[in-house]
Amino acid sequence: MKKRQELYAGKAKSVHTTDDPDRLVLTFRDDTSAFDGERVESLARKGMVNNRFNAFIMGKLEEAGIPTHFDALLSDTECLVKKLDMIPVECVVRNIAAGSLVKRLGVEEGQALTPPTFELFLKNDALHDPMINESLAETFDWATPQQLAEMKALTFKVNQVLKALFAEGDLLLVDYKLEFGVFKGNIVLGDEFSPDGCRLWDAATREKLDKDRFRQGLGGVIEAYEEVGRRIGVCIS
Ligand code: ADP
Ligand code: UDP
Repeated sequence: MKKRQELYAGKAKSVHTTDDPDRLVLTFRDDTSAFDGERVESLARKGMVNNRFNAFIMGKLEEAGIPTHFDALLSDTECLVKKLDMIPVECVVRNIAAGSLVKRLGVEEGQALTPPTFELFLKNDALHDPMINESLAETFDWATPQQLAEMKALTFKVNQVLKALFAEGDLLLVDYKLEFGVFKGNIVLGDEFSPDGCRLWDAATREKLDKDRFRQGLGGVIEAYEEVGRRIGVCIS
């Protein structure tokens, strides 16, 4: 499927139309951003690594019965997806305290969260993705209560599937962010699942193997993503 017009260039991916009005091409670039786009760097191979990682994870989620937008890998850095009407709400599940939760509530990083938490954020860089709730999402028409209920159920189902998958690679799935959209009336998982949008720690040492390496200037960012990929069986050339 050929790329046609560029619809949108995001912080990490570009989105192109295709000859099929229901399909888009996502191109994973090497650009890496943090702090709502305030810090941007190019990290060699990141586009390829995240594209392959995402394809692998989306396949596992589909196998588990979670509807995703993913159709096919097109190249090292491109994939074909269903064109979704994106819901501007980010769904975050946390199994272990880290990141903004630690800052907001003053809890200790690394504390197990039982049961896992579920949070909603508005996808809006200018406002620094503020935390929202179901009531605000309904009032401002970002999502209906039914859509929110489905997104929540699917986000927790993803947790079951991926916690087990990463555990096989001696990794802890600390937290992650998902984005959903609507395709022909149904809620479908969109965007990407890669170490850019989740936290993964080595189960024994708790070494960070995700985008926190970039946020915290720890180095070895892509090497860590590749290590995670190797441990769970992603084919990264
Ligand atoms: P950002 O917009 O946060 O800078 P990206 O660089 O990852 O993020 O850009 C990808 C954009 O494509 C995001 O806005 C995301 O919501 C959107 N998107 C992801 N999957 C789909 C899809 N299947 N259909 C339509 N838009 C999508
Ligand atoms: N996350 C993301 N995009 C965002 C905000 C968060 O992918 O715009 C991911 C982040 O990588 C982490 C989880 O969502 O895995 C929870 O992030 P948190 O709220 O702790 O925010 P952070 O301080 O990491 O931005």
